[in-house]
Amino acid sequence: MSQVDLSFELFPPKNPKQEATFWRTVGQLETFAPSYVSLTRGALGASTDHDQVLFDLHQAVSCKVAGHITTRGANRHELSKLLGEWHQRGIRDLVALRGDGEAAADELPDATALVELARELGGFDIKVAGYPETHPKAQSRAADVAVAKAKVDAGASEILTQFFFEANDFLRYRDDCAAAGIDVPVVPGILPIADYQRVRQFAAQCGASVPDRFDEIFEGLEGNVAVQRELGVDLASELCDKLNREGVERFHIYTLNIPNFATKLAENLVREFAPQPIRLVS
Ligand code: FAD
Repeated sequence: MSQVDLSFELFPPKNPKQEATFWRTVGQLETFAPSYVSLTRGALGASTDHDQVLFDLHQAVSCKVAGHITTRGANRHELSKLLGEWHQRGIRDLVALRGDGEAAADELPDATALVELARELGGFDIKVAGYPETHPKAQSRAADVAVAKAKVDAGASEILTQFFFEANDFLRYRDDCAAAGIDVPVVPGILPIADYQRVRQFAAQCGASVPDRFDEIFEGLEGNVAVQRELGVDLASELCDKLNREGVERFHIYTLNIPNFATKLAENLVREFAPQPIRLVS
């Protein structure tokens, strides 16, 4: 077994209650010495406090902080200005995304163009998104993987995937990426289930499938948050274990900003994937 290497995804809190749980979660993640923590973002203007949270996070943690940035809601000039401000404030890691909805006339068309822009400005390590089960709007699997390749050719250093629940979906995607000549790490995005019904709805929007056997596992547990979360962590640990057996050593964990949740998964991974002491046989 290998050493585990983790990164964690957070979203900006929207009210004082969420703010409290956000910072509690952040405090707990530090224990795992993550490669970085990332902060999601809506279209520019949709979450005006995003930048302040990003800067506060950068001050608060000892690891790197990656800001998600989308092409939607801002033109090239505004995005350049924003990236300049981030760089000045010490943010050197980006998750460059297209965002959802059609591009306005003056907006960059896709994530590839955003990677190109960030590369032109310089000084950023750029991560991008990938889709083990293919982006729901992609023309084909091959076209989707070709987009991932274009983002890497434009300068991305890592592909973070959409969540998935079957190890084979990820492994097939990793193979397809390798066959397309993608030579940067493809890092699985791991979503521990906190609320099964919500995950089902969300998965349908993202083009991710939920295995039928999960219906049985979560049957009758509506409203039983504690048990659902326990099962969610167990299932995510199992998934990571299968991936680790196939050589996966990096995991990007969606924290959902829930204290004592993603950290349980992280604890399992650190415990299970720690290098075993060498036993001398006499
Ligand atoms: P691209 O790399 O430009 O495209 C990816 C694929 O989607 C390509 O195959 C492309 O052809 C296809 N595609 C996308 N839209 C269309 C379309 N309209 N028509 C045809 N094909 C299309 N969103 C946010 O708003 N904020 C975030 O912080 C955020 N974080 C994310 C983090 C991760 C790890 C992931 C996996 C997704 C995240 N998203 C976020 C969602 C992302 O913005 C959407 O999935 C978006 O639709 C595609 O973004 P992309 O960067 O992958 O796009």
